[in-house]
Amino acid sequence: GIDPNFETNREDVGEEHEVTVWGPTDPPEELGIRGTHVAVDFDICLADGACLEDCPVDVFDWVDTPGHPESERKANPTDEEQCIDCMLCVDVCPVDAIDVDPG
Ligand code: SF4
Repeated sequence: GIDPNFETNREDVGEEHEVTVWGPTDPPEELGIRGTHVAVDFDICLADGACLEDCPVDVFDWVDTPGHPESERKANPTDEEQCIDCMLCVDVCPVDAIDVDPG
């Protein structure tokens, strides 16, 4: 699953799709962790879609990731500022790709 200490263990390498990218990245195979309050490890995400369906405030959007070995699209936490810390996305993700840091 996603490393909950990614902010310490990884480097901020910029922004894409309105959220911070935590490297390393080597596209298209390695895409890093995306977002900070709501963080999604794009290298683990399988595009299951439960987070998009269940988030009560529509934090996530699909972004296309052609050539990534796990899936050709990813759940991007575009509207992470809207998050109400319900933790549903963390609970439903089948591969533990999401970390939400309340507070
Ligand atoms: Fe949405 Fe709840 Fe996940 Fe926040 S914790 S992104 S509100 S499902």
